[in-house]
Amino acid sequence: MSTFCDVCHGLLERKLTTYTQWYAGQLVVVENVPAWVCEQCGETYYEPDVVERVQNLIWSGSEPERVIEAPVYSSNS
Ligand SMILES: [Zn+2]
Repeated sequence: MSTFCDVCHGLLERKLTTYTQWYAGQLVVVENVPAWVCEQCGETYYEPDVVERVQNLIWSGSEPERVIEAPVYSSNS
């Protein structure tokens, strides 16, 4: 894994991020996911094994830590 951003060639920092994904019609949020984040443009890079772990967690259907409500907007209205 290179430590430079593919987009702007800025330096990547190791950070804990919040990973979001739609699954079975629901937006699923996974907190504290380690990633490389560009300190310049904010682009986020996940390592393949981290993505696999997060996917397995989402697909497992196990009880989430908590459930949140999220406001939804459309820029189309
Ligand atoms: Zn960048």
